[in-house]
Amino acid sequence: MATNVAYNLLEKYAPVLAEHLVTVNATTAQNQLYPGVDLLGLNWLERTWASYYIWMGNPVLATGLLSFVIHEIVYFGRAIPWLVIDRMPYFRQWKLQENKTVTSAQIWKCTKVVLLTHFTCEFPLIYLFHPICCYFGMATYQVPFSPIGLMAAQIACFFVFEDMFHYWAHRALHWGPLYKNIHKLHHEFSAPIGLAAEYAHPLEVLILAQGTIMGPFLYCLFRQDLHISTVYIWITLRLFQAVDAHSGYDFPWSLRHWLPFWAGADHHDFHHQAFVNCYSTSFRWWDYMLGTDNKYHAYKARVAAASDKDRKAVQKKEIAEVEKEGLRAERIAEMGGGQGGMEGVPRGKLE
Ligand SMILES: [Zn+2]
Ligand SMILES: [Zn+2]
Repeated sequence: MATNVAYNLLEKYAPVLAEHLVTVNATTAQNQLYPGVDLLGLNWLERTWASYYIWMGNPVLATGLLSFVIHEIVYFGRAIPWLVIDRMPYFRQWKLQENKTVTSAQIWKCTKVVLLTHFTCEFPLIYLFHPICCYFGMATYQVPFSPIGLMAAQIACFFVFEDMFHYWAHRALHWGPLYKNIHKLHHEFSAPIGLAAEYAHPLEVLILAQGTIMGPFLYCLFRQDLHISTVYIWITLRLFQAVDAHSGYDFPWSLRHWLPFWAGADHHDFHHQAFVNCYSTSFRWWDYMLGTDNKYHAYKARVAAASDKDRKAVQKKEIAEVEKEGLRAERIAEMGGGQGGMEGVPRGKLE
């Protein structure tokens, strides 16, 4: 009844929007979406994909709902285990900022902000996802999916693009006026937790999400062989990366120990702690090329140079120094004076 009233209102005042919400029965959906396609000749996953679109009877709703559900399941599914790990003393040996703990009140506040952003900002955008994908020529309900090799190459391109976009957008967010009005909220956690990956101002979520989603759309301008299932895999991996980077843990088996250019939690945790270093997401190369990881490397080198018996004490002293400098830089940014990451770079590197 309520949905009928809502639909009638929508049809009267926003007919274009209402048109997108009309659903058709399964036979009509199959005839419209898959004319001449031998669904039985496909693999299990592709058949399930087609069945879902036929069952929903409206590709716009089907894509919108699937995008939202995938995002929620992946985000919370990846973040909650980190909260459990944080409660287990065994893992404490690999915690990056051992001395800091988060309270239940902080976790609860973080959950509320993240959910509010997801429902108010991301839900409407996700509804527009299908029409925008179609506009750029991305395959959505179509089957089969892309070959594995093509998927891997496309995802690798998206990782490189997102990392570059994020590096520059993140540095811009450290410029005084943008910092105090937008990015400050994300830096409330000086020792982050997985759940805080998207704990940010709605504008920040919108700005940084462009790095994730513009890669696939730009790709479509050059090649018309991208399937939305590849984009979902990309978004899943990107969410894993973002949540893990905020986890606060660096294990001996973490990816950065196998892939030396992978940033990982070690890199991003330092950003939250020191404030003026390590701006990129997935990779280390932008910070390395532009010298915005100088404090991070100096800190690591001083700790590594200490003898085994002094290491803990040196680490403690160095961290205290880094935090003091970070707080000073943050105060300058709060007053509108941040230089967008330039304060971390020695003069010689800028000239
Ligand atoms: Zn930042
Ligand atoms: Zn962060």
